[in-house]
Amino acid sequence: METQVNLVFHNNGLRSYIEVDLCERCPRQDDKGCCGFYSPVFYATDLVYLYHNKPDLLEEIFAINGITVLDASVTVNQRPDGASYRCHFHNRSGGCRLAQTLRESICRHFVCPGIGWEKSPALQKWRLFFEQLADYEISLNNGAAELLQAHGLTLRDPGDRQQAIQLMDEYLAQATSNRPAFFDEMPTKEAAMVTCELRFGRDWTL
Ligand code: SF4
Repeated sequence: METQVNLVFHNNGLRSYIEVDLCERCPRQDDKGCCGFYSPVFYATDLVYLYHNKPDLLEEIFAINGITVLDASVTVNQRPDGASYRCHFHNRSGGCRLAQTLRESICRHFVCPGIGWEKSPALQKWRLFFEQLADYEISLNNGAAELLQAHGLTLRDPGDRQQAIQLMDEYLAQATSNRPAFFDEMPTKEAAMVTCELRFGRDWTL
């Protein structure tokens, strides 16, 4: 069965994201879709954004029972739910309870492969944009992690966290002062529609 899927690409710097209207009628039909298989990982770019814009969520993340804290990242582990799992932030009735800009990169950029928007010739510029953005974020997060290590700080130690996030903040402010050109090559927002072949339940690949 073919269907039309509406996408909206948002060029919002390091908080860019893709909206997908298929999520409201998720073909997995299990009330959790892709979020039943993922544990969000918050890196420096996310942690510093939350520090400035949603400090209560940052505090909540560190207080969750079931996180994996590494030197420069925090993973909020999925929880067993029936025969599979569920993300901590996902609820059955309303989906993800985090606004798009509060989510980490994979959650903001992910679109089910079955939709196949990356194959559309008209959307190649957006494909390139999100590839460049992912590389840019990785290089920033690696740089922040190296700096923490050089200063002997780690998020694993609750006593280091405040200082570690402040150091990551200073690093990112300096490292992002020269805005990469690809941000200026795309509009702030663009809607698109693609047609794809729907499959249901586990036949719909995530
Ligand atoms: S944070 Fe939100 S979008 Fe990401 S896996 Fe969890 S529920 Fe899904």
